[in-house]
Amino acid sequence: MKIETPFDEFGSLVFDEKLMKERLPYPSYTKWRATMLRQNQLDRDTADDIAHAMKRWALENGCTHFTHWFQPMTGSTAEKHDAFIEPDENDQPLIRFSGKSLIKGEPDASSFPSGGLRATFEARGYTYWDCTSPAFIRDNVLCIPSVFVSYTGESLDKKSPLLKSCEAVSAAAVRIVNIFGDKEVRKVEPMVGLEQEYFLIDKHFYDRRLDLKLTGRTLFGAMAPKGQELGDHYFGSIPTRVAAFMKEVNKELWKLGIYAKTEHNEVAPAQFEIAPIFSSANIAVDQNQLTMDILRKAAEHHGFACLLHEKPFKGINGSGKHNNWSLVTDDGQNLFEPGDKPSENVRFLLFVCAFIKAVDTYPELLRMAASGPGNDHRLGANEAPPAIMSIYLGSVIEEILLELIDSKKTASSFSKDSPFAPISGLSYIPKDNTDRNRTSPMAFTGNKFEFRMVGSSLSSSSANVVLNTIMADVLNELAAELEDLKYKQDIRTKAIELCKKIVAEHKRILFSGDGYSDEWVEEAKRRGLPNICSFIESVQFYTDPRSVSLFTRNHVYTRKELEARAEVLCEQYIKTIDIEVKTFIHLCQREILPCMLEHLNLLSGKPAAIQQSAYFKKTITAISQTIDQLDEHCTRLEQMFSECLKETNSQTKGIRIYHEVLPILEQARSLIDSYEKIAPKSCYTLPTYDEMLFTF
Ligand code: ADP
Ligand code: MG
Repeated sequence: MKIETPFDEFGSLVFDEKLMKERLPYPSYTKWRATMLRQNQLDRDTADDIAHAMKRWALENGCTHFTHWFQPMTGSTAEKHDAFIEPDENDQPLIRFSGKSLIKGEPDASSFPSGGLRATFEARGYTYWDCTSPAFIRDNVLCIPSVFVSYTGESLDKKSPLLKSCEAVSAAAVRIVNIFGDKEVRKVEPMVGLEQEYFLIDKHFYDRRLDLKLTGRTLFGAMAPKGQELGDHYFGSIPTRVAAFMKEVNKELWKLGIYAKTEHNEVAPAQFEIAPIFSSANIAVDQNQLTMDILRKAAEHHGFACLLHEKPFKGINGSGKHNNWSLVTDDGQNLFEPGDKPSENVRFLLFVCAFIKAVDTYPELLRMAASGPGNDHRLGANEAPPAIMSIYLGSVIEEILLELIDSKKTASSFSKDSPFAPISGLSYIPKDNTDRNRTSPMAFTGNKFEFRMVGSSLSSSSANVVLNTIMADVLNELAAELEDLKYKQDIRTKAIELCKKIVAEHKRILFSGDGYSDEWVEEAKRRGLPNICSFIESVQFYTDPRSVSLFTRNHVYTRKELEARAEVLCEQYIKTIDIEVKTFIHLCQREILPCMLEHLNLLSGKPAAIQQSAYFKKTITAISQTIDQLDEHCTRLEQMFSECLKETNSQTKGIRIYHEVLPILEQARSLIDSYEKIAPKSCYTLPTYDEMLFTF
């Protein structure tokens, strides 16, 4: 008897390869496959066949509309629905979806940020089907993953540069793999597994916090008497209501063919994590966008609000998106797999060294790509990586590499071959050749690198564009050194020589100590590693001459595209802080100050005997002073923000806002936070941290 499980519906809402094969005329299926492998262009007839099959499937599944689903530079997703129905020549309703509509869309969408790319040409933007990511159904709409480009072909989105960077790293890695003897390998795919952290709070609280609704984070709020110090939430039993929510999330994800795998309570109260099984970078990024959307919507069904902001609450952990990254060949070899004898696996060592060089050469780009305005509150704060790039390799691999340049360095602690039997009788427990260091922004975890800096609310596209491109660049450089060598032994000898050179020149980026400590900040400074404190200050590295030449050399971005992207990021930053400032002032004027006045009023009605007490007098003075200071801060906030806006260059504008406006916002916040501790519940009606974080 077949048992029914929630997995029965797995993939039921995706038009995947299996359906393509089942539902397309065979020649069309083979043509689609060849296009996907970039061996040919899709012709019109094939596109019509695919569109027809997709339409039938969509209608069978209750769809009425289709949309090109794309990812503008805002970092979220966009869609504009078109119904399948239109009048035929006799004005009769006709259900239609042509190959042309499948391949190309003209959403206009002129309100998306373009960083000036579209102003000079035509305002129109075009979407084109990305046939490497499967179409899917959401809320009765057939969604077609698409790229979004300008009239003149410049990327206006997060997907097209990602696709280009995947090709760049594939071509470069294939060169090296071929040199090392695997001549049949034609393609190397960057593989990505994204762990997504988020907070859940009760929707009733969320609705009463305008700051959460408009900015995604609490702009004030005193820390609850209890935070995460006991560590009792981490991996704890999942509360019943949350479990029901997770069940719905998983069900939706599985239907969309997403292998949602792991779920658990995170470190902070009310914080959780979900992780799918890794897939190719492009698909992983698409699926993560869908996951964020599903988390938000499912939360509503269960009376929650899902907070994806990097730092919704001050004083406890923020949320990140761990980006696990590796390179896998078309015949299934993971190029970061050390194997049984990593010290003799020269190709593996070369790939690891290439990665070290790439990260140490472009740390600013990685820092930038992992950031946004929200991540500034997280990086360097509680349990989050610092803003300094470094790599943690684990002792085994690190020792092997350091031995290359200094054979004396065989440390006594070096336990490459030490027997491992932690519990007698359980001798089958295999030794993991990577120890863990949760404080590193970039950790080697067995056969992949885990990039932990990425902000939870961001599209992980940019981080992967940078990882792919910097790696492509170094691999090409190494391939050029090795390609002319004929003999296997010569290739190995030369490769080891290249590794030695890289380790000698770039070992400063290797760090296995506590990345959260103040000593590391000092030590990193001595090593000359950049420590860019804010996102806005990192944006300039997009247009730095070295970055321009890196990205153009690898055909990922043109100079114009980079300039546009930097502009978009600055604009976004300024708008984000603008909204935060406005929301803060609004809340002060409409809720906080009136509450303080009400509090004074309440006190002034007290009998004379009470008014004589020292505590009473102290309280009255404190409230009156806070009222005036807060009012003054609001005025200064407004003034300083307008002052900064006078700058003409948007980067300068953003940097000034970071240095001159945000500190005032922080000071103003601490006034409210201190007041909150003495505010009577009857006047102070805004949900507090202890209420919001400890509802479960
Ligand atoms: P943790 O980081 O908690 O140890 P896992 O090792 O299970 O967790 O992996 C975390 C994420 O990394 C998952 O999404 C997993 O699918 C992904 N992952 C595992 N192997 C690879 C790989 N070779 N390349 C990219 N991602 C991977
Ligand atoms: Mg992890």
